[in-house]
Formats: sequence, C-alpha cells, structure tokens
Amino acid sequence: MIEIPPSASMAVTAKANELRNNGEDVVALSMGDTHFAIPKAIDAAIDKAIKEQRTHYLGAGGIPELKKAINEVEFNNRLDEDNILITPGAKQGFFYLLSALDVQKVAMIEPAWLGYQSTCLLTGKQYLPINAKQTDWLEQLEATDFDLVVACMPNNPDGQMMSKDEFARLLEICQAKQSWLLLDTIYKHYAYDRPMPDLSQAMAYPKVLILDGFSKSHAMTGLRIGYLAGNKQAISDCGIYHQHIATCTNSLAQFGALGFVEALEQVKEYRDYYRQNRDLVAQIIPQFAEFKPDGGFYYFVDLSHWGITDAVAFCQDLLESQKVALVPGGAYGQGFDCWVRLSFSIDRATLIKGLERIKTYLNEQL
Ligand code: PLP
Repeated sequence: MIEIPPSASMAVTAKANELRNNGEDVVALSMGDTHFAIPKAIDAAIDKAIKEQRTHYLGAGGIPELKKAINEVEFNNRLDEDNILITPGAKQGFFYLLSALDVQKVAMIEPAWLGYQSTCLLTGKQYLPINAKQTDWLEQLEATDFDLVVACMPNNPDGQMMSKDEFARLLEICQAKQSWLLLDTIYKHYAYDRPMPDLSQAMAYPKVLILDGFSKSHAMTGLRIGYLAGNKQAISDCGIYHQHIATCTNSLAQFGALGFVEALEQVKEYRDYYRQNRDLVAQIIPQFAEFKPDGGFYYFVDLSHWGITDAVAFCQDLLESQKVALVPGGAYGQGFDCWVRLSFSIDRATLIKGLERIKTYLNEQL
C-alpha cells in the first residue's frame, strides 16, 4: 500500500465539522468550494435531463454537444471534438493524464494544490518542486530535468497569475526541452486583475494540455465534472483509462453542464461577490494586503510577521480557541511551514466573523 497522507484541507474541515456538531460556532475558512448554489441554467438542464431519462451509459469521451460548447466558448473553436475528454472532475482528469502520458519527472510550480502531489504518489511519478516565491524560479525550472511541468492559473493556494512575460518564458522552456506543459485553469473565471493568457494560442505548441472543469466556476464540485483538452493522442490515451475506470462521466452532470454557457452571467455575479470578499480581507486585516491574490478564492499568508513558525500548531490553536479553521501551508509545498491558506468563498457575514476572530488572535501574538 502506498503511503499517501489524507487531504489537509479536508482533514481540517472534518475537525471543524466535528466541533460544529458538538454545538460550537465554527467558521470554516478551509474549504476549496463555493458557497453558491448551482446556477439556474444548470439546475434547469439537470431537471430536463432527469425528465428525459438521461440516466444511461454514454460514450466514454463525453457528449459531443458539451465538447462543442467548450470548444466554442473556451477555445475559440480552434479544437476538434477529439481534442477534449470530459472527466469526472478535474482531479480524475489529472490522474488519467499522469497514468497515460509517457512521463516520469513532473515539475511542480509551488505552492501548489495538494492533489498534484498525491496523484504523483499514486501513479509513481517523481515530483520535482519549484518554489515560485523565489525570484529566479524560471531559471530553476530551466535547470531542472523534467518531462512534464504543471502550472495553475490563477493558482491554488496563492491566487497568483503569471505575467505575460513569465508565461512566454515558461512556454519557451518547455519547447526547448520538448516537455509537456499542463495548465490547470480551473479558477480562470475568478481572475480579478490580470487577464488570462490566450490558451488556444499557447496550444499551438502541441504539448500544451489544459485541465479545467465546472467545479469552481459553476459551483458543481459534488457533481464531479471536468475536462482535459489538447493533443489528440494524449486525449485518446487518457480516454482509454477513463473508459476502463469510469465508463463515462456522470450523465446528469454532463447534460447539466450544457447549461454552462447560459450560466456565465451568473458566474460573473459569483466572481464579483468574491472579488469584494477578497478586498474585504485586506481591509479587515491590513497586514494580509501584501498577499492579495490576483484570482481564485484564497489568501496564502506568511505568518512569520507575527513570529509564527509552525502553522500546524497555529491552525490547531486557532480552531480550538477562536473556532476558525484555516489550512496549514505545509500542505502546499516545501518551505511553507509558516504559511496558511484562508478561503474567502463564503457568505460575507460569516467571512467577517471569521476575520475578526483571526485579527483578535493575531493581535494577541504581537
Ligand atoms: N485543480 C485545482 C487547482 C484545485 O484546487 C482543485 C480542487 O480543489 C482541482 C483541480 C480539482 O477539481 P475537481 O473538483 O473538478 O476535481
């Protein structure tokens, strides 16, 4: 049995739920989920699918209408149906990719979503961390021997987005090494300040792959639907794993996701709400302003300013004394033991309550 630690954010949230079940007034700022209901158009599409009994096996690759809509809206119609695989969540898509691609050395731009490392462990790949908080991270990447690099934009956990120049350099490095580049764009609808790079243009390099889905943008986390896009051979190889592991992606989630285009207006409302939440965090705790994210729905904060070196102990104490749950930064890579992730994808009143408690606690540390 491979030793894989459980997801840190889920473990913290489970502890918070336990306290809540014991009657405590807990504020969980630890989850990577939106607090919104699914958009109305998705809701209606799921209802319609149930009425039409769309509950049977489907072709493994995903329903053509959904792939067509993704191609139109996200890739300016530059792809074919065979360039897209609909998967049960982005996470499972990543698992297929690591299983199917002929790669061994996976460079990871850290801090990084914890799912990447566990999937490397599950699939026996070598995980090579590159710390993007260091100014020379692109040189470090260039000096690293890798055959796949994973970058997430906006990033979980720190919401960073690469500048145009950084992104161009990243592409150049991959091309020079003839290595794969996986761009995880699952938070792209929550890009607040900087524009996203032109993905279909980046895909002119045939080893660029996109990992995305509707979990974060369309509040569909529990419905388990995502997709992989790019190189036809890679997509077809991932499709073989998918066919044998899952048969197809959940039919109601796929027909429901057909409402995603109509729902984009509502997704903009979600984004505006979270943008205001983001700004509020920096207003209530001004020392957090330097960690303000470009996108996504998390702050990733270095606590050394408060003399805190052990974020695990900090998070435990904060949960016990203030009843606020955050995720310790060590879960997101090497060298982040004094960092924490705070999620602001929550209703504003609860966020304010949590922030006031954190502020009180931190002021006591100074
Ligand atoms: N990629 C990133 C960066 C994430 O943060 C997450 C979930 O937290 C995923 C992928 C997984 O998404 P899904 O729920 O669609 O599997």
